[in-house]
Amino acid sequence: MERYSRQVILDGFGTEKQKDLSGSTVGILGVGGLGCPAAMYLAGAGIGKLILVDSQSPEESNLNRQILHWPEDIGKRSKSESASWKLKQFNPDISVIEKTIEVNNHNIKETLGDADIILDCTDNFSTRMILNDYCINSDTPFIHAAVESWHGQITAIIPKITPCLKCIFPNPPPAKKVFPILGPTAGIFGSMQASEAIKILTDLGDVLSSKLLVGDIQYNQWDIIEIKKRENCPACKQDQMK
Ligand SMILES: [Zn+2]
Repeated sequence: MERYSRQVILDGFGTEKQKDLSGSTVGILGVGGLGCPAAMYLAGAGIGKLILVDSQSPEESNLNRQILHWPEDIGKRSKSESASWKLKQFNPDISVIEKTIEVNNHNIKETLGDADIILDCTDNFSTRMILNDYCINSDTPFIHAAVESWHGQITAIIPKITPCLKCIFPNPPPAKKVFPILGPTAGIFGSMQASEAIKILTDLGDVLSSKLLVGDIQYNQWDIIEIKKRENCPACKQDQMK
């Protein structure tokens, strides 16, 4: 417990909350700019099991932000393998499962079915909408974040309670092959995904549910936007029909 002693002494935390974390499984979909810092802090916090999912391999241009991938990984291993072996060394007490797979509607349950909560660390809305549908159907909370250049956004999506991703973005933007991104932008929002997950798992603090936090670190502007369920949202409707 020495390893976790500085968080255990947090107000309201104690060994009980630490046990909540060690008994939890968090899925991380995308082990890139958001997923690397999120996974690092969740491993440090002692989440019992992490499932790392990514179909890609590290590339040179990833290294300004994807802090778990190093030059020695390029051409040698997938992103999930690269992150997994480092996290296992960083915290040998936790279990880290790596899955080098591109998720689709058919394999997402098998890939992430064990997760109590999932972090949306992907970089495109088509994968995010697959995750959105899966989480609604399986009643799994997920933490959405997206970043570009100096700005980003984050919200916690709790099925049946909060708006879903399709309520917020009924016409999501198309994927961009190359987009500008400063490393710390991804670091900040990925770290916040980890803290939102920890808050949900320990039932501490205020979670960003029905709230979209948008932030710009170039001009230091932060805003929290209240969001509502969209009437006739095709994704939420599925949920109501169940
Ligand atoms: Zn919806």
